[in-house]
Amino acid sequence: MKILSLHCDYIKFKPVKKALKEPEELSEEQKKLKEVKECLVILTAVEKGDSLALVSKLIENIKDIASQIKAKTIVLYPYAHLSSQLALPEIAIKILKQAELELKKDKNFSVIRAPFGYYKEFELKCKGHPLAELSREIKEEGIKTLERLEKIEEKELTANERENLLDKMTKIHMSSERTKEGLKSNVEIGRDLDLYLVSEIVGSGLPLLTPKGSIIRREIERFIVDEETKRGYQFTYTPIMAKSDLYKISGHWQHYKELMFKLEIGNETFALRPMTCPFQFIIYKSKPRSYKELPIKYAEISPQFRNEKTGELMGLTRLRQFTLTDAHVICKPEQLEKEFENVLNLVKYVMKTFGIKDIWYRFSKYDKKNKEKYINNPKAWESSQDMMKKILNKLKLKYVEAENEAAFYGPKLDIQYKNIFGKEDTLITIQVDFALPERFDLTYIDEDNRTKRPIVIHRSSAGCIERTIAYILEKTQGNLPCWLSPIQVRILSFTSRNKKSAEKTAEKLKEAGIRTDVDLRDDTINSKVRDAELQHISYIIVIGDKEEKSKTIAIRKRGSKKVKNIKLEKFITQVKKEIEKRK
Ligand SMILES: [Zn+2]
Repeated sequence: MKILSLHCDYIKFKPVKKALKEPEELSEEQKKLKEVKECLVILTAVEKGDSLALVSKLIENIKDIASQIKAKTIVLYPYAHLSSQLALPEIAIKILKQAELELKKDKNFSVIRAPFGYYKEFELKCKGHPLAELSREIKEEGIKTLERLEKIEEKELTANERENLLDKMTKIHMSSERTKEGLKSNVEIGRDLDLYLVSEIVGSGLPLLTPKGSIIRREIERFIVDEETKRGYQFTYTPIMAKSDLYKISGHWQHYKELMFKLEIGNETFALRPMTCPFQFIIYKSKPRSYKELPIKYAEISPQFRNEKTGELMGLTRLRQFTLTDAHVICKPEQLEKEFENVLNLVKYVMKTFGIKDIWYRFSKYDKKNKEKYINNPKAWESSQDMMKKILNKLKLKYVEAENEAAFYGPKLDIQYKNIFGKEDTLITIQVDFALPERFDLTYIDEDNRTKRPIVIHRSSAGCIERTIAYILEKTQGNLPCWLSPIQVRILSFTSRNKKSAEKTAEKLKEAGIRTDVDLRDDTINSKVRDAELQHISYIIVIGDKEEKSKTIAIRKRGSKKVKNIKLEKFITQVKKEIEKRK
């Protein structure tokens, strides 16, 4: 919000013409020319992102100016030309009305608000003393969830509005274009296979995973937790929010604030976490560390938050809440090279398991001219970039270099991919960091009994789980490998006589840990097969009289027309092996 305050001998104004389709309605009195004498005129532009939470700050500012110039009459005057980033009119008027209401509570002032949404003729005479003209920018420190403000919102919800909102709950916005070749996006696949929803009432960029979609995520999480545990990682669970103090130490508050969700609770400002590192560093710092313990590798399947612009949100690829397979390797400088290689090997193994092939490496560097974005320590930047480059070259990794793409605290190795629409994005990152160990004063006692500074590798192994799922869905067009398939086997009864046997077979498969469902509908077998195919189920089993008699099952693998009759036990062994090998 921007304001320009003018201490005036008088102001005269009169609405002339509508400036909006539906401006606020005016009484006969309000339509007339109004003259106010000896007043403080506050020209106000409400900007994008401003909310009711800002009203108290606006009032504070107005009262501050009024007391300095001893003004008793205040004219709130909507004035769009102070900003090129205006808020929506319905939000602006709400904020102005609320400001008027709040100001009027103070009996020391008389308050007049000029009409909103009209072209007005006006004339004023500014007093011209040093404080007669002041401009101020009023910014939100956090999203205030004050009860008072919530009550205002509550009051304004009419029965009709409530019904509209309830109606929205049943509406799902999940359509998207296909590529020229007819490939479906993760949005369309997610909808057709019932994997996730995006609901208007929850908000975009906040997908809800259905039971089927949750199976995919859980399988990925299990894989990652098991694999990383094997490789010496220890898992933590840390909170999704913290006081701003923590982010001030990390530098997020100075370099990343715009992308964070802030909350004010009591007198304190909190923010939803944009990264896990500050939390895991606190665990590291909770006791003195010896060189013998290093490297310490803290991992977390970590929900994180980023205030992306609404227009950029998309399916499972661009989100406001996402889950990072995050970890921090805290090591001695002489361990860095080996640990970096270990991380790279893990990442390569994970990508191979997911069938991720068409990627390339990007060495993302800082830009010394961009002082806002990066921690100011040119020497540390140069040396960490040199160090990283040396490691990349030694590992004979082919990479492209990118200026001004580093994290605010250090250079990165990004694993880049293009989605089916040809849009480039980052799947996984590995970062070498000298800056945060310094800021958090991370230390260890070395062999020579001296206190030393460790280096941190920030890394992901499977990237942001949602984005990785999107990648896999689009690359396979929904034909997930068996280990990730929400339904691995579907059993179809050929006739109603075979229902019992179909159910029994399903039980045995489930006991063996194979995700199985049954289709016992009295429908033709062809139509049941077609349904199962549309759901991209890995295996279809048909049980008819013939199978019951021969104590076998007729199986068909997805994508194959061939039907094979084999013993159930043999099938179970085969599928279990396939799942175990994550095929
Ligand atoms: Zn980190």
